[in-house]
Amino acid sequence: MTAGTGRWRLRGVMAGVAVAAVALPAAALAVNADGDRTEAAREAIVGGRARNVILLIGDGMGDSEITSARNYARGAAGRLALDTLPLTGSYTTYSLSREAPHRPEYVTDSAASATGWSTGRKTYNGAIGVDVDGRPAPSLLQLAQRAGFRTGDVTTADITDATPAAQVAHVSNRDCQGPQSMQTCPEEAKEKGGLGSIAEQFLDVRPDVVLGGGRGFFHEELQAGASAGRSVWDQAAKAGYRRVTDATGLAQAGPEKPLLGLFAEKNMDLEWVGPLAAPQGTEPQRCAPNSDRDRSQPRLRDMTWKALHLLDQRTARTRGKGFFLQVEGASIDKQNHAANPCGQIGETVGFDAAVAEVLRYQAKNPDTLVIVTADHGHTSQIVEAGARTMGATATLITADGAPMTISYATAPLSESQLHTGTQVRIAAKGPQAANILGVTNQTDLFTTIRRALGV
Ligand SMILES: [Zn+2]
Repeated sequence: MTAGTGRWRLRGVMAGVAVAAVALPAAALAVNADGDRTEAAREAIVGGRARNVILLIGDGMGDSEITSARNYARGAAGRLALDTLPLTGSYTTYSLSREAPHRPEYVTDSAASATGWSTGRKTYNGAIGVDVDGRPAPSLLQLAQRAGFRTGDVTTADITDATPAAQVAHVSNRDCQGPQSMQTCPEEAKEKGGLGSIAEQFLDVRPDVVLGGGRGFFHEELQAGASAGRSVWDQAAKAGYRRVTDATGLAQAGPEKPLLGLFAEKNMDLEWVGPLAAPQGTEPQRCAPNSDRDRSQPRLRDMTWKALHLLDQRTARTRGKGFFLQVEGASIDKQNHAANPCGQIGETVGFDAAVAEVLRYQAKNPDTLVIVTADHGHTSQIVEAGARTMGATATLITADGAPMTISYATAPLSESQLHTGTQVRIAAKGPQAANILGVTNQTDLFTTIRRALGV
């Protein structure tokens, strides 16, 4: 089938455009990149130390996910904020087989990949901050903290989920998120003399700013020591945290104390809703804002802005050297698993708003290294408009007014769609950014950030 000659004539497509759609720019902006950019590229290469490092992770945000979000929200010739970073490379994301550690596992999960850039060690799928032999390795966040930097960890998932956890915790299984959820790693519980659950390890490591979802695991009761029977959430107050649970509390928080903000029981609410992919496809349509979204939850960009400014202020107050902040847009991945294109694209656009916030900060603080990347590729593919695939498809009307069909076909529709093993984009701006150029390995990111901070 030829693109554009599929099931629908374009006239019919345009008539089907929903009125209450997500606000889109009136016209897609073409980016002029046909001039000689040699000087601009030379200027973008800056060596030396970075005062701050901000690492933004789009979970499951492969090239396909970036492209569909760009097409939908900005048009094919438009650009997302994350497209504007001056230096871009690709990195490989493979993990290791637990049974045969000399053998690559070509498709990583979020735990092994986050452990890869957080600790510089390849590991097996499911591992958090431990190498393939189960040995803990210090994370970038911990190394930065020990060297006198302020630290932050922000996500739209449970804060104990794999990506944020790998900067803080060391546990053999990612499911060990709370003190009463240690079934898959019983020997690592605090009462057995282990490091304890991921939630408990957050309090032990005590980053300056911790924001996301996942209150549920913090309501679990401690099983060991004098505080047994108290919840992790109660214990956080004893550990010196200011605790907030909504956007108002977040806005009011000052730099005096470390901040723990948990804004949902589980993952935070989605930005957008729309048709799920179906075996027979869908009528072309636009996504809509998620009217069920809990308005008391801050958005990722709000959490990111607040984290940046609190870390900046805390650095000044405590004469810290600077800060290291990781920000994750988590549900790009989760909605890919669910074959939900509007969910996935809305989260990518929400993540991109956080990137824009960070780039505004970087413009005023050019000694800050900003890196935007993903942890692994994912299932969604842009296929010819109206095409049928062996999986499920949905068709959206983009900012160009054109139909875009997205296919999910890595697993039967009744099951969770799968990650893929492709290399993913890594882009950067600021001191040491040139080290992401070319094709690198995910674990090289550890070295790049470590060198930038001098830790
Ligand atoms: Zn996933």
